[in-house]
Amino acid sequence: MKRSVAIDGPSGSGKSTIARLTAKKYGFIYVDTGAIYRSVGLFVKMSGAGSKDSKAVEKLLPEIKIDIRYDADGVQHMILNGEDVSERIRTPEVSIYASDVSAMPHVRAFLLDMQRELARRYDVVMDGRDIGTVVLPDASVKIFLTASPEARAKRRHLELKAKGLDVSFEEVLSDMEYRDRNDSSREIAPLKPAADSVFIDTTNLTLEESTEAVSKVISEKLGL
Ligand code: C5P
Repeated sequence: MKRSVAIDGPSGSGKSTIARLTAKKYGFIYVDTGAIYRSVGLFVKMSGAGSKDSKAVEKLLPEIKIDIRYDADGVQHMILNGEDVSERIRTPEVSIYASDVSAMPHVRAFLLDMQRELARRYDVVMDGRDIGTVVLPDASVKIFLTASPEARAKRRHLELKAKGLDVSFEEVLSDMEYRDRNDSSREIAPLKPAADSVFIDTTNLTLEESTEAVSKVISEKLGL
């Protein structure tokens, strides 16, 4: 029986960095499910369809082939129809597309098996919005990470600037608020803590402290 750690929370809560470091520490595979939704968002954007055009998106799904590869450092790469799109999926425009298409039931159904299959095959730390509630309701450990919107926008802004992307703090904050609203209010698989998740607020914690807090929960629950 494989072990799985579900980490959910809004963007900028520190999820992906913490999940990646934690996976490395325990020798688990890190699965960034946001990157999978982003890859679908990128494909829809490139095809010229509107991000909210559910019918057009449904028609495009059979043309989408997504593979996940891991490099020697355990870094996840997204391969969309044979092309590595790991960098291209990180722009604010693709964030909006990802958030909009992720509210569509056919998109979520399309990606569900792929996520579950990874957890069947490997010990995983999987991060997203609905991992503890929908994708892996039986996960061994469930953590819900959050932080204030300002703290989250500040982190995301620094991250994007470090990658050389020229975006303003205001743009990042409004993108984040848009996605928070979208992700929490959608009918299907909204962002909400699973009843049995451990809640961690990282607003006033450094990355090291947040990672430590998450590790503590995992070590206790899995006896590692
Ligand atoms: O985590 P990240 O910001 O990369 O996710 C991009 C978008 O994908 C989110 O705003 C959310 O709408 C969607 N998403 C989702 N379910 C997940 C992961 C991401 O709906 N499990």
